[in-house]
Amino acid sequence: MRTQVAIIGSGPSGLLLGQLLTAAGIDNVIIDRADKDYILARVRAGVLEEGTVALMDQANAGTRMHAEGLPHDGFALAFDGREHRIDLHGLTSGRRVMVYGQTELTRDLMEQREKTGGLTIYNAVNVQPRDFDGNAPSVAFEKDGVSQHLQCDFIAGCDGFHGVSRKSVPDGSIKIFEKVYPFGWLGILADVAPVSHELIYANHPRGFALCSMRSETRSRYYIQCALDEKVEDWSDDRFWDELRRRLPGHHAEALLTAASFEKSIAPLRSFVAEPMRFGRLFLVGDAAHIVPPTGAKGLNLAASDVHYLFSGLVEHYRDRSDAGIDAYSQRALSRVWKAVRFSWWMTTMMHRFPDTGDFDQKIQEAELDYLTRSQPASMALAENYIGLPY
Ligand SMILES: Cc1cc2nc3c(=O)[nH]c(=O)nc-3n(C[C@H](O)[C@H](O)[C@H](O)COP(=O)(O)OP(=O)(O)OC[C@H]3O[C@@H](n4cnc5c(N)ncnc54)[C@H](O)[C@@H]3O)c2cc1C
Repeated sequence: MRTQVAIIGSGPSGLLLGQLLTAAGIDNVIIDRADKDYILARVRAGVLEEGTVALMDQANAGTRMHAEGLPHDGFALAFDGREHRIDLHGLTSGRRVMVYGQTELTRDLMEQREKTGGLTIYNAVNVQPRDFDGNAPSVAFEKDGVSQHLQCDFIAGCDGFHGVSRKSVPDGSIKIFEKVYPFGWLGILADVAPVSHELIYANHPRGFALCSMRSETRSRYYIQCALDEKVEDWSDDRFWDELRRRLPGHHAEALLTAASFEKSIAPLRSFVAEPMRFGRLFLVGDAAHIVPPTGAKGLNLAASDVHYLFSGLVEHYRDRSDAGIDAYSQRALSRVWKAVRFSWWMTTMMHRFPDTGDFDQKIQEAELDYLTRSQPASMALAENYIGLPY
């Protein structure tokens, strides 16, 4: 079997890259170790930057997103007994974000792939990128007990944090930067109208809380929790009570509750692998970097990586120039680090750390007060939240 670009991973980055390449007439095959239903069941990101929205359109997969997604012009910061709206639209000359679940985005890309006849091999076993330091790379895998080789020009490692691509790079040629935060997020999904039509980020002495949504009838709520918490110890009633305690009074009173149908704990970490290119293997999205979800950047960073790699591949095939491919790692990392910084800053500002002393607490309060009273500071927050330019 042969293709131009072999893509390992059928998450948002692999699917988006695959559909952009297909739309540009570049042959590609996606290989995933999981099956379609498993991938679609993973509840994750929900806030899309305008750049991500534009890439979905470019991949011809944006129709349902525009019909059902919720454009958001702002969000609220709640702290110290008050609530302050960050007017994204006003602070960024008319830009906004789109609330649309990762599961829906993934479904749209999968459906578009089926429509365009793109090949995705699900349930592949022992997937292994090979010979990417030479001119004849390939991906080895087993399917239904049969060993196969996919010959290709390039390999895109879109296989997430736990994937095989990054692990295939020889020790010593990759440098890891990592920060693990001393808490996680306990999140639930429930079919109930959101407490507010915009997101609420709450800094409370009991810990951070986030009121988010997937649609006008489906809410996604999170509370900061200790790393050793267990989902089984959190009944729905316990979760709703704790969320109410962390919200401003009028929101706590207005909060509608229902039985949750998804409940999980995610640890928070920042992680970057440098560089993002090794010969003919490119790391894309979570395979190369992870950010804490506080700034809503993970999926959006995966999309900007895809943009840089896709542009480089088009230059290679259409213009016979490798300039874009050669610049991929440096261009992607430059944007990645700014989002890593923003996500770290939002996390530091909005959470209660177990070792925070009186001094650190006063600094956090001063920062929130400054941020919400200074227009330049609010503009910097808004500019980063809606997404820095590609
Ligand atoms: C709980 C949670 C909440 C989040 N919230 C947000 C948010 O609000 N905003 C935001 O922007 N981001 C958020 N993120 C991050 C976002 O979900 C990720 O950044 C995004 O999924 C990255 O997409 P990806 O395609 O790079 O990787 P993934 O989605 O991880 O996809 C990787 C794919 O590769 C496949 N794979 C793995 N290993 C192999 C292998 N060995 N062989 C073949 N295939 C393999 C997997 O099955 C998977 O389909 C959140 C993440 C989590 C976990």
